[in-house]
Amino acid sequence: MIAEGYEKIEATTKRLEMTDLLVNVLKSTPKEIIDKVVYLTQGRIYPGFVDLEIGVAEKLAVKALARASGRKESEITEDLNKTGDIGKAAQKSMASKRQVTFFQQPLTVRRVYEVLDKMARASGSGTVDLKMALLAGLLADATPKEAKYIMRIVTGNLRLGIADMTVLDALAIAYGGGKENRVYLERAYNVSSDLGKVAKTVAEKGLEGVKKFEVSVGEPIRAMLCERLSRPEEILEKLGGKCVAEYKYDGERIQVHKKGEEVVLFSRRLENISSQYPDAIELVKRCVKAEDAILEAECVAIDPDTNEMKPFQELMHRRRKHGIEKAMEEYPVSLFMFDALYVNGKDLTLKPYPIRRRTLEEAVEVSDRVEIAKCVVTDNVKKLETFFLEAIQDGCEGLVCKSVAANSVYQAGARGWLWIKYKRDYKSEMTDTVDLVVVGAFHGRGRRAGIYGALLLAAYNRDKDVFETVTKCGTGFTDEDLWKLPKMLQKHKIAHKQSRVQSLIKADIWFEPVVVIEILGAEITLSPVHVCGLNVIRKGSGLAIRFPRFTGRYRHDKAAEDATTVEEIIEMYKGQRRKIAE
Ligand code: ATP
Repeated sequence: MIAEGYEKIEATTKRLEMTDLLVNVLKSTPKEIIDKVVYLTQGRIYPGFVDLEIGVAEKLAVKALARASGRKESEITEDLNKTGDIGKAAQKSMASKRQVTFFQQPLTVRRVYEVLDKMARASGSGTVDLKMALLAGLLADATPKEAKYIMRIVTGNLRLGIADMTVLDALAIAYGGGKENRVYLERAYNVSSDLGKVAKTVAEKGLEGVKKFEVSVGEPIRAMLCERLSRPEEILEKLGGKCVAEYKYDGERIQVHKKGEEVVLFSRRLENISSQYPDAIELVKRCVKAEDAILEAECVAIDPDTNEMKPFQELMHRRRKHGIEKAMEEYPVSLFMFDALYVNGKDLTLKPYPIRRRTLEEAVEVSDRVEIAKCVVTDNVKKLETFFLEAIQDGCEGLVCKSVAANSVYQAGARGWLWIKYKRDYKSEMTDTVDLVVVGAFHGRGRRAGIYGALLLAAYNRDKDVFETVTKCGTGFTDEDLWKLPKMLQKHKIAHKQSRVQSLIKADIWFEPVVVIEILGAEITLSPVHVCGLNVIRKGSGLAIRFPRFTGRYRHDKAAEDATTVEEIIEMYKGQRRKIAE
């Protein structure tokens, strides 16, 4: 009977009509299996965040069909090649079934679901044979029309085109007292990501049950997203004159679910990505003090030796099934926590952000690999601008400015004005290398303990005959370079910053400006901490090279005064802007 409903739904493209048809299907479904019907209608048997698939490949599907219908595999394959639709091939095959069985039992949703569930859970040797036997058994009792939909479901091809919101509409009409009550169902869905659970709750407990819906550890909450503005004064105005501005880290969004010692990680698309990040799971176990919690974090690739952040692309190496141990070593990550949605039994999604942030700070013990998003609370345009430049300088994309008003709840599943991102509106690659003077160094840590972690580099200001810092570089050095550098620089070491060196940054070790090295960066940005070209482009800002990397070339052939000049860096910055404008 459900197959009839699917057939009608498939025949319409009008959303209202589709909703009505779905209402009919839902109303005629026994309440205790309504969740299963909802999953099946979406072509699956569990909510999307459950990492299990029925996983029937086309070849296996054809085999099962042949067995159930008595047709030849080659004939079925021929049909399939013609239409490209395994459902139609199944319908045709079952309609022309050669032998009629007298023991045919009418299919029920419950039985279909149970068999599909068994297929999804089958594992180990003999899986293929088991799946095939289960599927053929089901088909043997199916009508041709049922066979069509069963085959589409098991091969992941149902595609009835029913959007989540249409299901919510239909549920509101069928069991929630009318479409106007969809908002309550929508919230329940946004905090559970489980349409089946919402369906069962509203069918069995009515709207009141749905209103009491609470978040639950293990069920991902749909992500809150930001709007975007490009001027700090607009941002402050939109947020009521004051906001908490946080670094916008450039990594992968992760929703952390912790129940005692059990930790699960969900991606922004609500997929379970725990297997990609065993190290992040360990960090959570070590640093999240709360017994139970749902927290949000940005997972960022870092340089293990300097703890500096690396660009988002580096995380690509972690998107793999095998060799994760090695990838973990080569591409370690840090977590930057930015929200608390549930802590020790308390649902925080409807609490204002300042309370959630405070709870987050209490729930997490920061370490060198787990931090809380860096922030300032401000009502000042200038301060916001400076903090933005600092964020860029530290390898972030910009800021996320968040409302601190009484209504600053966590808007699950929505893009709204409570969070506003402030990003650079340009991006361009630096194509040319630059030659910079080593003026300082920072002690290394981890694998670089006892040697330098990063070097402070400067460009030459010809007018003033000084060296102005433009970047801090810890990337691109081989192990050999790292051991060689302290020896090479030893003879230039001095107790204080040299008088010709201009720097706001305090290095651990200072050098006379002598050694020149070649650097390639990602781009040149405005900077509140580097003094190269200070005040030339903008008052109070200098220029900096972002994501610098040592090319391996020591420019022993160059004196410090032959290094790239401040003038050249300014020109390169302007060139970048022109390129963007074009
Ligand atoms: P973008 O491409 O700009 O990341 P997006 O559509 O992926 O856009 P947005 O809503 O624009 O998402 O930006 C929010 C994203 O920024 C989050 O999904 C999260 O991954 C990331 N992020 C980094 N730092 C923070 C932070 N402190 N607070 C909230 N989100 C943050």
